[in-house]
Order: sequence, then structure tokens, then C-alpha cells
Amino acid sequence: MENTLENLPLGLNLRLKYNLAELGLEGYEENDLVLDTTHDLMTFFQQNVCSCKNTKRDPKTCYEKVGFKKFFERHLQLCALEPNELELFIKAQLMSFETTSITSEFRHNYRYNFSHQLPLCKPVYIKLCGITEYMLKTLQGDLQANGYQKDFIKTLDMYLKLNPVLMLI
Ligand SMILES: [Zn+2]
Repeated sequence: MENTLENLPLGLNLRLKYNLAELGLEGYEENDLVLDTTHDLMTFFQQNVCSCKNTKRDPKTCYEKVGFKKFFERHLQLCALEPNELELFIKAQLMSFETTSITSEFRHNYRYNFSHQLPLCKPVYIKLCGITEYMLKTLQGDLQANGYQKDFIKTLDMYLKLNPVLMLI
């Protein structure tokens, strides 16, 4: 068997394949988590699932807008959350993303963002959060049914005070 890159054990293969410094990740150790995540995200972006590429108003892809390092760091932060924390965080974001007008209250629209200045398309937002489209839909449905109750707002408020890092997101 030829000793090509593909035939090497995955860990070693990834160490040869990615130059972390070129991706802005020079401060990171080349451990399995960092390399696997890099590989996963690079593979994702190479698949061109970003759907905002060809619009005239915003000709840049999500990858070009956010940059690998920022995306990588936020993705790791979100993946490290407990499932209930992630759910709360996404719901809070969805509340601020919602653009539904009063006249169309039965059709909910969302504008997904990385931050205030950086809009993301839905497929990339889903990847950022490490969730499935089904989960996003479930959370949206849940929010529309119960989201604006006092208890939810109170829990959310408490949670954000305990996790100031996420408040900046
Ligand atoms: Zn996009």
C-alpha cells in the first residue's frame, strides 16, 4: 500500500494536513479536539453549503465574513455547553433574530447572525451551534408556543448573568 496522506492514521493525517498557524490558531495545541474540529469545519466549508454566496447585496460567504478562527472559537464554546444551556442560548438568540412583522404573526421569519454586524445563512448558523435543522425547528416551535412567558425570560436573565461570556456573543 502506498503511504499517501489518506492511508495514515487519522490523527497523524490531520496533523500533516492542517497548518494551525495559517488558520490563525497558532495559540492552540495540536490535540485531537482542535484537529478534529478544524477538520470538521474545513470539510463543512469546502462543501459550499453557505447559501449567501451569490446574493448581490452581500457577495461574501459566511466563511469570508467571519473568518476561520472566530468561527472555530465560537463553535467550540457552544459545543462545550450543556444541552439545556445550549437550548437556552439559542432561544435567546432566536428571540433577537426574529423579524416577524405584526401583520404576519403566523409566519415566523428569522435573520441569523454571528454578531450584530455579521449575518449568517441558516445552514452555517446550524453548523456554528452544532445542532440539526430539526432541533432548530423544534426550538423555534417551542419558543413560539411558550417563549415569551415570564418564567422563561427570568431563567434566561439569570443564566446570562451567570455566563457573561455568552452575553457578548
Ligand atoms: Zn452563508
